[in-house]
Amino acid sequence: MSKKVLVLAETREGALRNVSFEAIAAAKQVSDGGEVVAVLLGDAVSEFGAELINYGADRVVTVEHPHLKHYTSDGYGQALMAVVEQESPEALVFGHTAVGKDLSPKIATKLQSGLISDVTAIEGEGDDAVFVRPIFSGKAFEKVKNKDGLLFFTVRPNNIAPLAKEERSGDVSSLSVDITNLRTIIKNVVRKSAEGVDLSEAKVIIAGGRGVKSADGFAPLQELANLLGGAVGASRGACDADYVDYSLQIGQTGKVVTPDLYIAAGISGAIQHLAGMSNSKVIVAINKDPEANIFKVADYGIVGDLFEVIPMLTEEFKKV
Ligand code: FAD
Repeated sequence: MSKKVLVLAETREGALRNVSFEAIAAAKQVSDGGEVVAVLLGDAVSEFGAELINYGADRVVTVEHPHLKHYTSDGYGQALMAVVEQESPEALVFGHTAVGKDLSPKIATKLQSGLISDVTAIEGEGDDAVFVRPIFSGKAFEKVKNKDGLLFFTVRPNNIAPLAKEERSGDVSSLSVDITNLRTIIKNVVRKSAEGVDLSEAKVIIAGGRGVKSADGFAPLQELANLLGGAVGASRGACDADYVDYSLQIGQTGKVVTPDLYIAAGISGAIQHLAGMSNSKVIVAINKDPEANIFKVADYGIVGDLFEVIPMLTEEFKKV
């Protein structure tokens, strides 16, 4: 049965997040030829509508309001529920991002629906779609089917390929929503680090652990990340030791990432770290200890001193 699917698109620092395009592709797969409607919430977001259509959305609905400039679950919740009431979708797709993780259970509760969270792959199409999601901190995968009622799922960034971008046509309309009774109003956001590639969407991550030994020790990792257009990440060991900020922490209690290339330098491979990166497409581990646990999940292992290996890699990549 064809479904109307609502996709929550996200912007970050003045650009659409890639996960929005991935969610549209996922929506197409389950829609069975039904309409895919992307939703944009913010204070000035209608300019992004055309791009969402070029990536496969049939239509875009925007809700613009000064209180939607920054994410709050109250504000976004009110705006999104107004769109749901207008559109009456049969399915909803969000990114499994900080926003999606916060908002999806709230909306699912309001709609009294189930929620399939953190989907990394979809097998089959339409009503036959089977959703693959990691369980037990990524040690196993389960396959879930929606039995009946509203289909609601979140997709993990970097796992579902977006549709090819091409000139497409579709309507971009706005819905006026009175955002009221907010319990939180964000006046200003002070970022610790606004620069660089977003860790959760980075295609290349150079991650350092306690083996990096100091904040300055991260400089060669940053140089390699810059060269490859990637981002620097870290183990909790490195964050606890104050070498880098906790915003870079990868793992069970940090960010979950799925880059094309993950280079782990001076990281032992504790189970809590693996929970955040073991689904990376190619893992390269650099560690002095040949028995280090990280080698069990690595596609390529280099036993050696990271302060020798990383600069050698950088020099080699410069030649490419
Ligand atoms: P270590 O375990 O100390 O490993 C350092 C490694 O560097 C060693 O293997 C050593 O051989 C190697 N090394 C040293 N010098 C060099 C060199 N010059 N060249 C190459 N290799 C070198 N951890 C996370 O990462 N993310 C999480 O989200 C997380 N959540 C947690 C949640 C809970 C509830 C708990 C209890 C723990 C959590 N941890 C998490 C902590 C985790 O258990 C480990 O303590 C942590 O991952 C260890 O960090 P590390 O690998 O950098 O340090």
